[in-house]
Amino acid sequence: MTIRSHNSTDKEHIWHPYSAIGSDLPIFHVDSAKGCKIKLKDGRELIDGMSSWWSTIHGYNHPAMNAALNSQLEKMSHVMFGGLTHDPAIELTEKLLEVHDDRLNAVFFADSGSVSVEVAMKMAIQYWASLSKPDKQRFLTVRNGYHGDTFGAMSVCDPVNGMHSLFEKTLAKNLFAPAPKTPFGEPCTDEDVGELTQLLIDNKSEIAAVIIEPIVQGAGGMRFYSADYLNRLRALCDEYGVLLIFDEIATGFGRTGKMFAYQHTDIIPDIITMGKALTGGYMTLAATMTTRDIAKTIQSKSPGVFMHGPTFMANPLACSAAVASLELLSSYDIEAVTENIAEQLEIGLSPCRQLDKVAEVRILGAIGVVEMKDPVNMTVIQPTFVEHGIWVRPFGKLVYVMPIYVMTNEELAELCAGIVEVVSKL
Ligand SMILES: *Cc1c(COP(=O)(O)O)cnc(C)c1O
Repeated sequence: MTIRSHNSTDKEHIWHPYSAIGSDLPIFHVDSAKGCKIKLKDGRELIDGMSSWWSTIHGYNHPAMNAALNSQLEKMSHVMFGGLTHDPAIELTEKLLEVHDDRLNAVFFADSGSVSVEVAMKMAIQYWASLSKPDKQRFLTVRNGYHGDTFGAMSVCDPVNGMHSLFEKTLAKNLFAPAPKTPFGEPCTDEDVGELTQLLIDNKSEIAAVIIEPIVQGAGGMRFYSADYLNRLRALCDEYGVLLIFDEIATGFGRTGKMFAYQHTDIIPDIITMGKALTGGYMTLAATMTTRDIAKTIQSKSPGVFMHGPTFMANPLACSAAVASLELLSSYDIEAVTENIAEQLEIGLSPCRQLDKVAEVRILGAIGVVEMKDPVNMTVIQPTFVEHGIWVRPFGKLVYVMPIYVMTNEELAELCAGIVEVVSKL
């Protein structure tokens, strides 16, 4: 039996994420997907442990999501946003206002997570320019971060994971504090914000904003950290006159156990980015939100507008998917749903703690991470997961899952059992 169906057009001509054309790494051909299962061309069905990179929170081919998209499709799939508006954008904005703190009330719709990060960074720079502080154009962040693949976003990704040396001549030189160390649930120590504080003191006249993934650092290491660290960070940003950007592209819409990760804290950011699960994983769409005061300040000086406007801004189909997704989310008790997933992951993954090759098992909200002592061999591990009927895509030392919210306890148990078996045989 062939363990993969690797179409030659795909192999010879198409890039996949972080891949090489012509690569022999296994790749699997999907036919369709429904609920929590991905069906391959060869007929095998896989329980999806990745939610297609944090996005398909309600599962594939969801009747309510499909109905919303079909109905929008019959009205219009797209119309330009310059000089025109439409119901999907307005309804989505109203839903976003409902789920956020009242102070976050100005929305910019972008086409992907990375672009929403660019937008957030441009907002911060324009804000300070309007306040006659044009020197504030740098960003401070922490190591192990991931904010996307475009140049601005890349410049605040972890310098090692993000291969900054490769793009050195063109990448903005930003500032990096150590990654937060205080574990989730514990009070932040002075030491944990020590270097960060010093960087703020030394560079405050040049720093536009601090950008950080709140509570969970995703693609840069799947690390969980203290909400109190963010309370401290907020106070430091206020003290040294720097804006605070939370990148909630991965953490947003319930993943960490709260609707947004900042809701674990007592504070709000000045600017927030959202993407991934925004449309329930149906379409690409992202959003950047800020406060009325920042929006007003940005437009208070020349050129009098915020300088960004993508062709597919607020695409109606994507907005209608997001409206449907938020409607579904409001029908869940997200804290109860993620608490149950966390319990099932704890039960299911805890046998990994006994394995020699495992460094740590950690769980927060609907995220389960098995950190290995050494990087896994993708050529071997990926087909093995598929043979076990599960879709799990590790990176480096990290074997992790972000289940679909509607997964049954049986499916969660099967997913975890598959992981335990594969990892124990490595
Ligand atoms: C995925 C991700 C991005 C980038 O989003 P894209 O849609 O892939 O451009 C940015 N920040 C975080 C935290 C992410 O997880």
